[in-house]
This record gives sequence, C-alpha cells and structure tokens, in this order.
Amino acid sequence: MAFSISTNRIFIKSLITCYNSLTDEKKIWLTKYSPGTTVQVSGIYKCTECNKEVTCNKDDPFPPPKDHEHIKETKWKLIVEADTKGKGSY
Ligand SMILES: [Zn+2]
Repeated sequence: MAFSISTNRIFIKSLITCYNSLTDEKKIWLTKYSPGTTVQVSGIYKCTECNKEVTCNKDDPFPPPKDHEHIKETKWKLIVEADTKGKGSY
C-alpha cells in the first residue's frame, strides 16, 4: 500500500512539473485561434469546423470571419509549424 501511495505522489508531482514546463512554444499546439487575430507562428492551420487548411505567415491576420463562415465560430488550429530556423540553428 505504502508503495502505491508514494508512486501516485511521484506521478502527480511529475504531472505538475510537466504542466509547469509547458513553454509558449508548446502552447501554440493547444491553442485555437480566432479569425482575424494575428498569427503567432508561421505554418499550416486547419479549420476546426470543416478541416479546410490554410497557410498563414507570422504577423499576418488569420482569414477574417466573412471569408470563411460557419454557423459555429470558426477556429484555426496549428497542424504544421513552418521551420523558419532550419537545421544548425539549435
Ligand atoms: Zn471551415
């Protein structure tokens, strides 16, 4: 019993550590972006309503609501991040 309790504690602690170590870079994969807002990361984005894909460049706006309309609010989700740094820059 004691063993399993301490194992759970370690598991919970590692979950918290994992959550706290989420950097902004990782959060971009979890965020759903609204139409017309500024693109944070260049790449390919997918509409959460119809799966249409668009390429967006950093600092450009996402397609405005009137260009891509759904009954529910359209959201864009990052599926491919453009590697703008390339190899050798790590
Ligand atoms: Zn759509």
